[in-house]
Amino acid sequence: MSLAVELSRRSDFPLLVNQPELVYLDSAATALKPRSVLEAERSYYEECCANIHRGLYRMSEEADRRYEGARRSVARLIGASDPDCLIWTSGATDALNLLAYSWGEQNILPGDPIVLTGLEHHSNLLPWQNLASRQQAQLRWIEPREDGTLDIGNLDELLDGARLVAFTWVSNVFGSISPVQEICRRARAAGATVVVDAAQGVPHLPCSVEELGCDFLVFSGHKMLGPTGTGVLWGRRELLEAMPPFRFGGDMILEVWRERCTFNELPFKFEAGTPNIAGILGLGAAAEYLLEVGMANVRAHELDLLAYARERLGSLEGFQLLGPPLEQHSGAISFAYRGIHPHDLATLLDRESICIRAGHHCCQPLMRKIGMTGTARASLALYSSRADIDRLAEALEKASQVFKGVLF
Ligand code: PMP
Repeated sequence: MSLAVELSRRSDFPLLVNQPELVYLDSAATALKPRSVLEAERSYYEECCANIHRGLYRMSEEADRRYEGARRSVARLIGASDPDCLIWTSGATDALNLLAYSWGEQNILPGDPIVLTGLEHHSNLLPWQNLASRQQAQLRWIEPREDGTLDIGNLDELLDGARLVAFTWVSNVFGSISPVQEICRRARAAGATVVVDAAQGVPHLPCSVEELGCDFLVFSGHKMLGPTGTGVLWGRRELLEAMPPFRFGGDMILEVWRERCTFNELPFKFEAGTPNIAGILGLGAAAEYLLEVGMANVRAHELDLLAYARERLGSLEGFQLLGPPLEQHSGAISFAYRGIHPHDLATLLDRESICIRAGHHCCQPLMRKIGMTGTARASLALYSSRADIDRLAEALEKASQVFKGVLF
């Protein structure tokens, strides 16, 4: 993206327009929302605030039309040819729990190996940990290296007999990109089902579920410019069709008798009750926005910023980048700086109107593995700019003055 485009993109984000002083570097936690997303939510309430899949009047039909249109937009963003294989959830966590119950209880038997990686966010660990303890299954680990890349040297051994492989596309701590295609290909060839946690992938990288080669893909709406409380589970049709529903209630049925019922077809079988209609319309608008910018452009912009940040921040005395080589880097820049506690750093940067995240990032086993209690993390999105990085560098230098004589 050229600078002109970048700047005009910033003007699409009301929060940045309203707070020009703010440097928002916490997009891995949640992304800012463009005007079109806010507008999609507002116009639903103002123009067609009806429930979906129920009404026989025009306003309800319009709500339906917009709702299913959003599904097609998000399907396009992830290269899914069949929008009915895309299930709305309240987030990546919700999608993973759905899978761990619905797919997991049917397919994971006592002793079955489940392969995870040491990079996983608690959301892609606890549902499987819990499933393993319910089903007496065993967990196996693909180990990360110090820089957040995965060591797949012993993958064949780990895959031997494995029923499930669940791993993150991009680490929310290191921003390291996993070799998704290779892991998917080898895992499926070994007979395992593969779940990709794309919460940090879809907002940053071109995505095609067919090219990735996974069986299931999950992600959150709010990290890809959409509203909070929205998310997606995509799955291969034959797998979704074989899975039992996870939640029961209105909209997911065909016929109900006092003692039994029959279930609706995909995707409704998994979408019980009135959903977050406004949020889903916002998510559809977010997908349209990203499609319009083009994910290849988003990635190019981000690579440019990452290269700039690595150089600019790397030139600060005592700055230590915790992360992979540039080509394998996306989104999040974790770092240590002059022995200053990450929480202190975040607090001092906030005084300069700079938002970063500090802590374990919901990855406590990973922190233990790298021998740290937490990191400072600056994370990018398509509205981030070189000026943001400059402000961060200047504020870090200023923060170091506060600790001069105490730590170094
Ligand atoms: N996986 C990864 C890699 C994440 O970064 C996150 C959110 N930080 C999640 C899963 C969970 O997403 P959510 O809280 O939106 O459900």
